[in-house]
This record gives sequence, structure tokens and C-alpha cells, in this order.
Amino acid sequence: MKFETKAIHVGQAPEPATGAINVPIFQTSTYVQKSPGTHKGYEYSRTGNPTRTALEECLASLEEGKYGLAFASGMAAISTVLNLLKTGDQVVSCDDLYGGTYRIFEKVYRDYGLDFVYVEPTNPATFEKAITKKTRMVWLETPTNPLLKIVDLKAVAKIARKHKLISVMDNTFATPYFQKPLTMGIDIVVHSTTKFLGGHSDVIGGAIVTSNKKYYERMKFCQNAVGGVPGPMDCFLVLRGLKTLSVRMKEHEKNAKKIALFLQKHPKVKKVLYPGLKNHPQHKLAAKQMDGFGAIISFVLKSNLAGAKRFLSKLKLFALAESLGGVESLAEHPAIMTHASLPKNVRDSLGISDSFVRISVGIENVDDLIEDLKSGLAVV
Ligand SMILES: *Cc1c(COP(=O)(O)O)cnc(C)c1O
Repeated sequence: MKFETKAIHVGQAPEPATGAINVPIFQTSTYVQKSPGTHKGYEYSRTGNPTRTALEECLASLEEGKYGLAFASGMAAISTVLNLLKTGDQVVSCDDLYGGTYRIFEKVYRDYGLDFVYVEPTNPATFEKAITKKTRMVWLETPTNPLLKIVDLKAVAKIARKHKLISVMDNTFATPYFQKPLTMGIDIVVHSTTKFLGGHSDVIGGAIVTSNKKYYERMKFCQNAVGGVPGPMDCFLVLRGLKTLSVRMKEHEKNAKKIALFLQKHPKVKKVLYPGLKNHPQHKLAAKQMDGFGAIISFVLKSNLAGAKRFLSKLKLFALAESLGGVESLAEHPAIMTHASLPKNVRDSLGISDSFVRISVGIENVDDLIEDLKSGLAVV
């Protein structure tokens, strides 16, 4: 079965009791047993719920993995992956990460005796150099957030395998429609389904997909033990989002390409970061390991903080908000908003300056979006 068909059908057979074409929202906490221990596969909804099962099966198939787990948020999924580690273990990660991931590493799990090191991720050799006897896991994002660097997934997965490390990849930005890390040798994929997978800015959710039975069973155990599970209504919303993922991603990308080219030519824009642009330093690698370049664009204005603030406040269609991946376009200021949890010296060394802006291109008409950006740029 191909991607578009799987998104609509896997895990979503018509409901047998009534023939309902959609998976019902099984709004129940518990399940009646015929005699003690005799049940229909469900005992208690922290452990399992049929709406969640449908979502987990569909997500696993889209990522070409064997096992899926759905969570109450992307962070709950990330936390559960970290539960595979023990005190004294080390994680080697990218120097450009989702702010919340950096925060849970540094402000939560470091207190439990885990160690985290960060490397410049565009050269796979930097990962290998950072590996010590304590290293157990490699944690990746590509394209990275917000600098949109590309990590060579096959190369880093190979290094991880050689050193018997668990490789983890946050595939929120690209989605399985554009990039399938498990097919490139990565062990575990995590998602914030809040973003493109849900796609309508109406739900918070997360997911893990893997084909490794041992990791799956431990994470499933931890999911049930810790309890960060999604409610059935949230699972239903993500599942509904998945049905249109392919059509949305195509439109997102078509608009993003046009906007990246528009920004690149604009006199008030100093620099555009988008892997789909030919002048992106890793455009070739992106073209090789991705089937499309996604909808996130970062750019640097020829201005100071005040100019960036004027630009963002002037936009009408691009809503000034954190998050990304919804049908509506969003714009944000990483230094003040999503990446404020990174220390200023770290932001500066990465190039996330006061005139750095990130946009998530929606699926509105692209001419309207360009008009909106033009009016914002006029006041820079
Ligand atoms: C949003 C996001 C997360 C966190 O997900 P939540 O659903 O907000 O908990 C993790 N990784 C990336 C890349 C994200 O964009």
C-alpha cells in the first residue's frame, strides 16, 4: 500500500458493531471483563484505548516501522525515549535543537545523572568524535530548528550502529511524507503530532515509532508506568489530520518554495535558510535523503530587534505565534519566543540573532502570503 492510502486506511477499518466509517472516539476509562483476566484486549485506557491503537498503527505504517506509541504531547514522547537510559549514560546531540528538547535534557534529565553533549551536526564525524564510554544514545533533528541544517541520517545511523548506540530522530519538521528515518537505519523516530501530522493547530500530541521490539516494549512499559497518554478525542483529531497529510504537505512545500525565492530577492532580507534553495549549503544532501523540503523557512532581516518587531507586528495573515505545521501560516521570533530557553551566548554562537525570524508556511493562497510579507518588509 502507498503512503496516501495508508494514511486513510491503516488501523482504520470500519467499526464492526455499527459500520461507522470513522474510528469512534472511545471515550472510556475501563473495559468490562467476562471473567477475571478474560477481556477483548483492553483493560484500562492508560494502558490502551482503541482510538489510540488506530492512531498508533497508522503512524507506524507511515514511518515504515513495526510499532507505534501515541502520547499526550511531543515532550511526553521525548521523555519516554529518554526513559531507555540509566544514570551515568550520555547522549550526543545536535547543537541546534527544539527549545523544549534542550530544556528537558538540561533542566530535567541532567538532574537524574544523564549527560548531554552537543555537536555541530552537518559533519557526521563530529558525532563520532564526541562518543565516549558513557555514550548510549544519539539524538538528531533534521532539518534542525531553527537553523535548518541537514544531518546525514544514513552516515550518523551507521556510526551509531558501529558503537552500539540507540539512534533517535525527531521527524516533526519533515514528516514521514518527506523523510523516513527508519529506512535510513535510525532506531527510533519521535514526533510532535501537534505540528504537521495533526495539521490544524487544534491538538497537542506526540508519537514514537520503531521497529526494535526490545526498545518498543520498554517504552510501552514506561508509557503505561509514567502515564503521559493522549485522550481518545486527541487521537481522533490526529488521525483525521493524517488522512490529508500528503495533500497538505504538497501545498505547504509549493508555497514555501515560492516564498523562499521571494525572500531571497528582497532587498531587506540579508539571508534565507531553506533546504530547498540551491544555495543552501546542504541542498544536495537534503535532496538525496528527503522527498521534499518542507514548509519551515528561517531568514535574517537587514535590521535590529526593533525592525524585526515591526515586521512581525505588521503581518496580518502570518499569525505571530509559537508552533508550526498548521494549515495557517505562522511567524515567530526564536530569540524571544521558541528558543528563549537557550542561553544568549549559545544563541549568538549559533547565529540566532535579534533579526532572525522563522516562518511556518501554511496552505493559504501564496500570492496573499507574499503580499502580507511585502507589507511587513516595507516597515523594516
Ligand atoms: C513542538 C515540537 C516538539 C514538542 O512537541 P509538543 O507537542 O509541543 O510537546 C518537539 N520537537 C519538535 C521539533 C517540535 O517542533
